[in-house]
Amino acid sequence: MISNVSRQLETALEERTGQKVRHCYQCKKCSAGCPVAFAMDVLPHEVMKLVQYGQSERLLGCSTVWLCASCETCSTRCPNDIDIAGVMDGLRVMSLEAGSASERRIGVFHRSFLNGIKLLGRTNETVLIGQYKALSGRPFDDLGLGLVMFLKGKIKLVPRFVRNRRAVRKIFEETSRGRSA
Ligand code: SF4
Ligand code: SF4
Repeated sequence: MISNVSRQLETALEERTGQKVRHCYQCKKCSAGCPVAFAMDVLPHEVMKLVQYGQSERLLGCSTVWLCASCETCSTRCPNDIDIAGVMDGLRVMSLEAGSASERRIGVFHRSFLNGIKLLGRTNETVLIGQYKALSGRPFDDLGLGLVMFLKGKIKLVPRFVRNRRAVRKIFEETSRGRSA
């Protein structure tokens, strides 16, 4: 029997993502198809089980939610139509809000990435790296690697924008309103 306390995480996640994790019956098809499962500390089907049992501390501090590549293989394989990739996304946001990310710099990287998308409508290495270096307080880490990438033309100094940046900004506004409501 799952208690009311255990239901709290499940309900919070459902409100945020619209996904009914309680429909999961542990068939493990998600984990069997996940290309990143070999590196995860909690497998996707175990994530579902931990949500059902309200194990928020274990979930919000695990590496899995940050290793998930959002490839959506699991979501397409789930016989119960649970968007597991969406659940992972919801858990990432909850982990940041709770200050539980397994490493401090994961949150910094995540914020830098989203700030870049908000600004340009797409990701750009220079903006991403610049923000990450500034926010993480470690400007000289990986300097040699950055130089090699630049010389190989992998880092574009002049960023490109999407045409309708206003639409992208609106998505950010709508989603942050939804979170604060
Ligand atoms: S979305 Fe994440 S959890 Fe799902 S299969 Fe891809 S990497 Fe694995
Ligand atoms: S594929 Fe769906 S039902 Fe099966 S374990 Fe994963 S989340 Fe649960």
